[in-house]
Amino acid sequence: MGLLDIVPSGVITGDDVRKVYSYASKHGFAIPAINCTSSSTINAALEAARDVKSAIIIQFSNGGAAYYAGKGISNKDQQASILGAVAGAHHVRAVAKSYGIPVILHSDHCAKNLLPWFDGMLAADEEYFAKHGEPLFSSHMLDLSEESKEENIEICVRYLERMAKINCHLEMEIGITGGEEDGVDNSDVDNASLYTQPQDILDIYNAFSKITDLFSIAAAFGNVHGVYAPGNVKLHPELLGKHQAYVKEELKLESDKPVWFVFHGGSGSTEEDIRVAVSLGVVKMNVDTDTQWAYWEGIKQFYEAKKAYLQGQVGNPEGENKPNKKFYDPRVWVREAEKTMVTRVQQACKDLGNVERL
Ligand SMILES: [Zn+2]
Repeated sequence: MGLLDIVPSGVITGDDVRKVYSYASKHGFAIPAINCTSSSTINAALEAARDVKSAIIIQFSNGGAAYYAGKGISNKDQQASILGAVAGAHHVRAVAKSYGIPVILHSDHCAKNLLPWFDGMLAADEEYFAKHGEPLFSSHMLDLSEESKEENIEICVRYLERMAKINCHLEMEIGITGGEEDGVDNSDVDNASLYTQPQDILDIYNAFSKITDLFSIAAAFGNVHGVYAPGNVKLHPELLGKHQAYVKEELKLESDKPVWFVFHGGSGSTEEDIRVAVSLGVVKMNVDTDTQWAYWEGIKQFYEAKKAYLQGQVGNPEGENKPNKKFYDPRVWVREAEKTMVTRVQQACKDLGNVERL
């Protein structure tokens, strides 16, 4: 039984998201969530997942969504980030089914100061739900890890109540993930707060599961956003096993892995750390920094190989009147970026066991 035996292809929401994460947890693999900023990067992520025969998660960060709408649009009151997220979501919805794979459509980190962005996306979800019986997005992420645990849970619960009505999944973060991403810099945070405690997970589980089971938790276990020199990251993915055991024990649950975990800041971690994290209930892992580099690498390689054909519209080593259109046409060099991104997304899929799952 593969994924397409339990859910349809295209963007999935609600009960289908529940089925996919339960399936991933049960079968011990995780789905990469690829940060996308354009139709080109979305298409590359979809193509990659189709060719390794599995599901994929497309996500937009706040800055990525604003970029999607266009840097020429003001982002006053989050209007560009809202517009871009909605535009990107519609692009994904329009093409996803043609790739023949299940796709989870998600928005990334939303800190407290960005809540108007979250409100705008939720309004779009509710409008879509009124017409189609499902939200526009499969899920959204609230990152209130900089606030106190009490406030974090309280705000999440408020949103979760609203999201449960439209079958939209919530991902939340607890504990501090170090490093810098999308403008939030935690590189000076002290080490103790880089590890979420079992009691934190239990408190969240208790508060959320009264409302719905459509939630996941990005717990900190020493993860760092962005890429740092190897050896600087002390990951302790085995902590996730302690969280699972604690929740199971305290609530007398049957499942060994009652919690869906999300792995943030995984760039540069070892295969073994990833393997352990996934075996302990990580069902989603964010991939951003590495695919950014991969996308650039394709253009870099192309430019270096074809440099002599890219110095003017006419004139190259084959003759001073020879046209260069077939080199500088964006469809040519942007495609090279897509190809190297496809390869990197496929690598992420392989690292997470997300292959041959249809
Ligand atoms: Zn995070």
